Amino acid sequence: MPAHDILIIGAGLAGQRAALAAARKGATVAIMSKVHPVRSHSVAAAGGINAAISPADDWRSHAYDTVKGSDFLGDQDAIEIMCREAPDEVLHLEHIGVTFHRNEKGEMDLRAFGGASMKRTAYVADITGQALLHVLYEQLMKHHEVIDRYEEWFVTSLVLDDAGSCIGAVARNIRDGHMETFSAKNVILASGGAGQCFKPTTNALICTGDGIAQAYRAGAPLMDMEMIQYHPTTLVENGFLITEGARGEGAHLLNASGERFMEKYAPNKMELASRDVVSRAEQTEINEGRGVGPDGVGIYLDITVVPKKRTLEALREIVNIGKDFAGVDITREPIMIRPGMHYIMGGVKTDVDGATSIPGLYAAGEVACVSVHGGNRLGANSLLDTLIFGRRAGEHAADRATSMAMPQAGTGAQRHDEQLLGEILARPKTGRRISEIKDELGTTMNRYVAVYREEEGLRTAHETVRRLKDEAQTAYVDDKGTIFNQDVLGAVELDYMLDCAEAIVVAAIERKESRGAQFRVDYPGRNDAEWLKHIDISRDGDDTPAVSYSPVTITQWQPEERKY
Ligand SMILES: Cc1cc2nc3c(=O)[nH]c(=O)nc-3n(C[C@H](O)[C@H](O)[C@H](O)COP(=O)(O)OP(=O)(O)OC[C@H]3O[C@@H](n4cnc5c(N)ncnc54)[C@H](O)[C@@H]3O)c2cc1C
Repeated sequence: MPAHDILIIGAGLAGQRAALAAARKGATVAIMSKVHPVRSHSVAAAGGINAAISPADDWRSHAYDTVKGSDFLGDQDAIEIMCREAPDEVLHLEHIGVTFHRNEKGEMDLRAFGGASMKRTAYVADITGQALLHVLYEQLMKHHEVIDRYEEWFVTSLVLDDAGSCIGAVARNIRDGHMETFSAKNVILASGGAGQCFKPTTNALICTGDGIAQAYRAGAPLMDMEMIQYHPTTLVENGFLITEGARGEGAHLLNASGERFMEKYAPNKMELASRDVVSRAEQTEINEGRGVGPDGVGIYLDITVVPKKRTLEALREIVNIGKDFAGVDITREPIMIRPGMHYIMGGVKTDVDGATSIPGLYAAGEVACVSVHGGNRLGANSLLDTLIFGRRAGEHAADRATSMAMPQAGTGAQRHDEQLLGEILARPKTGRRISEIKDELGTTMNRYVAVYREEEGLRTAHETVRRLKDEAQTAYVDDKGTIFNQDVLGAVELDYMLDCAEAIVVAAIERKESRGAQFRVDYPGRNDAEWLKHIDISRDGDDTPAVSYSPVTITQWQPEERKY
């Protein structure tokens, strides 16, 4: 049976950074991914990564912007750590080979991003995630003697010992369908977000909340799950992302009368207010009949105001996306966008070293909630979060491993999962299709758990999720084989998504106020007296989410009214 000091589940930026940090401390590492590592969703990150690198900047300013962006729900101790450590991390990336964009003076160039009080976003054109991920992957290969890579392996369960510590995981080799149990002194979840609970979403098909659900099932609390980010600029046709970098470069948002309507909502920051504010402004324009396009469901993003040379240099990927997926040349005409599901601020609750409530289980990246993003994440703070807390989790887990004997994970969990997959494969064609259930889940969430929410809609969403959970028990798959059977894994992913969706909806019902990304039409104000606290969701008994609260850590910034 394979055994390592540290098993990392997920090989996006958080997982790869954790692996390199742990290996550097002398730990033996296994890193596992259900797709080839460079196809992790991190590869799609476009706009950039924040750090107070400019001599005119200060990490405290970055931290304050982040606290304000979070609508004061972010934990300030964690935010301080992230912003203080950011410049060194970005320079480290450059030293290992990331070709960040430079200005004419030869200095690292920084672009403007939403909610930031100055230019603070380092970037590689609009393919920043790809540039970062490939450089880290080169480093992983370089360290092949201490880092074992398990590519195209799908984790189905975490393994806990009798004392409740995490000592490994069960995984299926996707290429041939065989399963194995992996023992580890520590497991780091780095399995990304849960965007596929919504339809449409900017997230890749693989973002199905596996790690969030696995930790939840193992007994770890989830936090801030109600906080779902709708990005202001996604294509009306299919939800693809047009990076915030476009507005960072100066693009305008226009309604049907050609008005730059952000003047009404955020007179100072205009298009570069925080994402929750801009998305709400757009949705209000659309709801009040000032949207563009045949059904009035869009808003124009006008990039023609950016000099063409600059667009072709700094935004070349979205030039392609505009042409290929909307038939629009963004250097010549506006493109139709609308708010679309993009990011989950919540996740597995961790401390600032990535430790969860389960000994031996860590989490970092989008799967985790530290919470540095609170009610609303600032653009370009997520790549930073994956790297800072990926590194810290890797280092902390490596330290913990030094004083431990190698545990021996039993095979009970593997037998259970093998049986479960066998049972899914054996289902008769009487139930619904997996894809049908997934579609209904996504459209329901996007209808009721979006930019504007209210009690009745949220309750409808919850009832629907409960019904879909029942229907998922008998959903059938067509592929009965063992080689690359994505169909059967799709059934497992559907169960994960349903668990995540339920936690999201239950938390959204619970929070009876409007803060950050959660806007309750029935409770339109922020209510610090009652709701300046995190909502934690744990699994109670078999399959019921239980709600509890935890305090928000405030260090130097007292809550105040948020204006942009
Ligand atoms: C289109 C887009 C653009 C973005 N642009 C930016 C940006 O410019 N700046 C910014 O800061 N943020 C951006 N973000 C957000 C940011 O990219 C993500 O939050 C971040 O990359 C997540 O990284 P991660 O390492 O946590 O997870 P991911 O990169 O999603 O990786 C998850 C890993 O887990 C593995 N995995 C999942 N489940 C299993 C399982 N069951 N078994 C085995 N392996 C599993 C996957 O194979 C993958 O390797 C963007 C997001 C999107 C969707």
